[in-house]
Amino acid sequence: MKNRKMGIIGAMSEEVELLHRHVEVTQKHEKAGLTLYEGTLHGRDVVYGKSGVGKVNAAVCTQFMIDLGAGGICFTGVAGALDPELEIGDLVISSSCVQHDMDASPLGFARGEVPFQEVSDYAADGTLVELARQTGERLFPGRCLVGKVLSGDQFIASRESVQMLREEMGGACVEMEGAALAQVCWMNGTPFVVIRSMSDKADGSAQVNFETFTQEAADRSYRFVSALVEAL
Ligand code: SAH
Repeated sequence: MKNRKMGIIGAMSEEVELLHRHVEVTQKHEKAGLTLYEGTLHGRDVVYGKSGVGKVNAAVCTQFMIDLGAGGICFTGVAGALDPELEIGDLVISSSCVQHDMDASPLGFARGEVPFQEVSDYAADGTLVELARQTGERLFPGRCLVGKVLSGDQFIASRESVQMLREEMGGACVEMEGAALAQVCWMNGTPFVVIRSMSDKADGSAQVNFETFTQEAADRSYRFVSALVEAL
């Protein structure tokens, strides 16, 4: 990862605002309604920006970033916890990402499986995951978990959905962008890792918790990514 330009994507303004405050910006690029910034963070070349919410926004933003020369991409953001061990504020580092709303089961495909494609469970880069794990242990001891990130174009806010996503699909947390980024990275051979801080538990209180805890969770996620870039 040495000398590679690192890409950093957030879904929401809260997440990217923090980068604006710390990156020395040298260039600005605009395409398809997205704005990406290039500059340096802790002396390393970075390209970063806001994707917007959902899989299509994340996919377009990821390709734009790769086309600008990102040699690895890290997604920073918030998510709903699925693993009962996770508390609000805890962090999940992606071992892999799956689209939970990809469902061609009437045709005999497993839920989450992209028909006729050899991979649907996209593995995060081993080096980035290990570095993230060490960074997490240092910054937030005992509050980081490496696990499967599930993504779909739905805000999950019910116990039944949590149960299905946890038991049937083995997710540690659920959000709306990670697997789209992961698929685009897989298609381009670009290493990635998704870092998510828990803003809610994807249950009946998810909406209230999301609104209350997003800023705090975004702060934690930013601190994490900043330390990760420093450690690269
Ligand atoms: N910004 C809007 C909508 C945010 S949608 C608002 O303020 O209302 C939720 C965002 O947080 C998505 O980017 C998603 O990745 C993440 N997220 C957090 N909790 C989630 C949950 N329970 N289900 C799905 N996505 C969640």
